[in-house]
Amino acid sequence: MDQPVYLDHAATTPLAPEVLDAMMPYLRDDFGNPSSIYGLARGARRAIDAARDSVAEDLGCRPGEIIFTSGGTESVNLAIKGVASANRKKGRHIVTTRVEHLAVINSCEYLERQGFEVSYVGVDRFGAVSPDAIASAIRSDTALVSVQLFNNEIGTLQPVVRIGEIARGRAVPLHVDACQAAGTLALDVEELRADLLSLSAHKFYGPKGSGALYVRRGTPFQPVQHGGSNERGRRAGTESVAGIVGCATALRLAARDRSDANRYIATIRDSLVEGVLGRVAGAQLTGHPTERHPAFASFVFDGIEGESMLLALDARGIYASSGAACTSGTLEPSHVLTAIGLPANLAHGSLRLTTGLTNTPEQVPFVVDQLVAIVEKLRSLAPKRRTGRS
Ligand SMILES: *Cc1c(COP(=O)(O)O)cnc(C)c1O
Repeated sequence: MDQPVYLDHAATTPLAPEVLDAMMPYLRDDFGNPSSIYGLARGARRAIDAARDSVAEDLGCRPGEIIFTSGGTESVNLAIKGVASANRKKGRHIVTTRVEHLAVINSCEYLERQGFEVSYVGVDRFGAVSPDAIASAIRSDTALVSVQLFNNEIGTLQPVVRIGEIARGRAVPLHVDACQAAGTLALDVEELRADLLSLSAHKFYGPKGSGALYVRRGTPFQPVQHGGSNERGRRAGTESVAGIVGCATALRLAARDRSDANRYIATIRDSLVEGVLGRVAGAQLTGHPTERHPAFASFVFDGIEGESMLLALDARGIYASSGAACTSGTLEPSHVLTAIGLPANLAHGSLRLTTGLTNTPEQVPFVVDQLVAIVEKLRSLAPKRRTGRS
């Protein structure tokens, strides 16, 4: 291939040209502070209002229930800490799962240090949590349930609708981390029974550093960041006007193109999976066989070091990841692969290929050939093939 092959769309996506076009006026000419009252600022204010209306329409909620943020991590922090601190009289207990994104896990661990108790519900070998297990974990003092839609390492879809029914039946607010889902699923907060929902624009061809949090009217909620009265006092700070416009435009594009895009990326993903499982000895698919994100081809390879595989792929112009981008670079096997019960010798050899609109079907045979060669080479270099625990 003369062009590099980008197979890390779960880490981030390039900006769609239409999104850049929509953002440009607010980066170049309409630079006014949206909180100012003179003419120059009114264009920025109107753009934010229109973006809020558009995101609300896409999610099936009221515009006033949308808070624009600096991305998925901030939305998640705001959801978890904002509800936990406001809902203290209900109790200091939170229910989540063992396979959440680190934004969720580390926010919960922070709250544990502040005196909260957190139940991290386990998952099956495919990474799916059982709604019954969530139901059993909810107590009379549970202040919040937080569950992701798609897992960001292995792509498994969680039964969020069932979990939403359970949480609502017990009058506990539900936060849905939909950062990996917004480009792929039509998200309707009523259907999901979500009380809070987090989005990150750069996961669906929008800009990095831009996201949104839906907070259902009436949900106990306190701001985390203090300052001006922006976002109705729920998120202080001068708004990133271009980022907000980019987020709303990207979400609208995702809704327009969703069914074709999903089919396209799933077809390429399926032939990648077929090629890898068929030709690389000791390769296993991770995540759920059917209830999974259409972009996710995630594997473990027996006796291979994931980092070495990534470097060798990079040298051949293939960009991939070993799991979550944010956990790469550590030597610990990821909490997700541990939670699905993989022994360390397999969990160390993980590879996540996530397809997207930058890919073409012609790239698949090249990637599979390179992977076959790399795995063979790495195994021949290994002093002794590891078995059992390492
Ligand atoms: C990417 C991601 C986040 C964090 O979003 P950022 O905008 O990168 O901070 C949170 N949760 C999930 C599931 C994600 O995939």
